[in-house]
Amino acid sequence: MDLKSAIRTIPDYPKPGIMFRDVTTLIGDARAFRVAVDRMVQPWAGAKIDRVAGTEARGFILGGAVAHQLSVGFTPVRKRGKLPHRTLIEEYELEYGQDAIEIHVDAIQENDRVLLVDDLIATGGTAEASIRLLQRAGATVVGAAFVIDLPDLGGAKRIEAMGVPVSSLVQYE
Ligand code: IMP
Repeated sequence: MDLKSAIRTIPDYPKPGIMFRDVTTLIGDARAFRVAVDRMVQPWAGAKIDRVAGTEARGFILGGAVAHQLSVGFTPVRKRGKLPHRTLIEEYELEYGQDAIEIHVDAIQENDRVLLVDDLIATGGTAEASIRLLQRAGATVVGAAFVIDLPDLGGAKRIEAMGVPVSSLVQYE
């Protein structure tokens, strides 16, 4: 199945010149969602994985499904200020300004082998911050799985340079 046909592209969102790749159409299609989750799991089937972490917000939907498929628990990586218990926080640079993500301090067991999941990797800034956060909490990040890679923006290379292998299902130049 061609997953690209299930992904909608919105030109000039959120600002002029950006082609926004919208996976809500993919996850809204039963067959495409099933195929995407199966394909996301496949490269990691032989790896020992204790837990999936997903980045807010689309990483929750895909990561939850991947965790269920692997029969492991799920750790949400949330935007600043959303988690109720004590957290670890990691700040990262955006094109303009800064953002921050958090996990609960007790969301990871020491040496947990974690697979990070999100819908899309662009510059890799979000994934890098998520990986740093998970590593600070004691995780070994085994890999990072995305539906979409934008290879021109160099994110996958940046994450692989951290020693974390990356998988993706479709690429857009
Ligand atoms: P990065 O930090 O530059 O790699 O951007 C990746 C993050 O921004 C992910 O959490 C994505 O969900 C989000 N993102 C960036 N561009 C798009 C897009 O075209 N479609 C959907 N999400 C995007």
